[in-house]
Amino acid sequence: MTTPAIELRDLSVVFNGEAGRVQALSNINLTIDPGEFVVLIGPSGQGKSTLLNVIAGLLKPTEGEILAHGEAVSGPSRERAMVFQEDTVFPWMRVGANVDWALKLRGVAPDERKALTARYLEEVGLSHTAGAWPRELSGGMRKRVSLATAFAADPEVLLMDEPFGPLDFVTRSTLHSIVIRLWSEERKTIVFVTHDVDETLLLADRVLVIRHGEIVDDLRLDFARPRTDDLRADPDAIAMRRRLLDQLGVVDPARAALAR
Ligand code: ADP
Repeated sequence: MTTPAIELRDLSVVFNGEAGRVQALSNINLTIDPGEFVVLIGPSGQGKSTLLNVIAGLLKPTEGEILAHGEAVSGPSRERAMVFQEDTVFPWMRVGANVDWALKLRGVAPDERKALTARYLEEVGLSHTAGAWPRELSGGMRKRVSLATAFAADPEVLLMDEPFGPLDFVTRSTLHSIVIRLWSEERKTIVFVTHDVDETLLLADRVLVIRHGEIVDDLRLDFARPRTDDLRADPDAIAMRRRLLDQLGVVDPARAALAR
């Protein structure tokens, strides 16, 4: 039996803040296998980021246990890297130096670093910008640098918190293809937070729906890959989309009118 990449046992998180006591997560039990692409979806304020922060080791649970590859998590680790919505690129380093930095941190020898930096920049379609400053790039290009850096850092688990949230549709589609290609080449475990149903259908092997701090649905998506926009016409995908929208509490006004 393979050791799970992540295991959460009877996990709860309570915040005692200015606004009083908030039960952000309740009694979460979850096993994620190595290489799984897991999407956490749910409306805003339901505990998705809290769950990601706990897995990252950035937040200690109030109760329960968390294991990564069989070891108790007691803090952040290079093996569980976060990609945030905000830019995670160092503005004072050129693009190539950003990727090189991630390789250096994991002790890759200088010769090999040069070849690997070129490879990761090529993977994200930015070979021509190795010498550019991050400020010279568009938001989507900077995000591609973040992805190159995150994969170059070679963590076991990648934690992505709405990484493509504010970007336009075309840029997001490009980034989705890049993530899927890198993931299928390197078989990282990915836990990806979103509230976007279409993004979920394109990316996930498995979807966990979070509401009020609990996992209320745990679904497998076995649509063939590569997934394209044609998935929108697949009857199983349409049914899954509707189920997820229902879970998110999204009411389609036209359908509601028909039901009246
Ligand atoms: P989501 O990622 O689904 O939008 P979060 O995990 O960010 O939700 O938040 C879940 C709940 O926990 C919310 O009610 C939020 O206000 C609360 N919360 C999150 N972080 C903190 C904090 N540091 N202090 C107090 N309350 C918090």
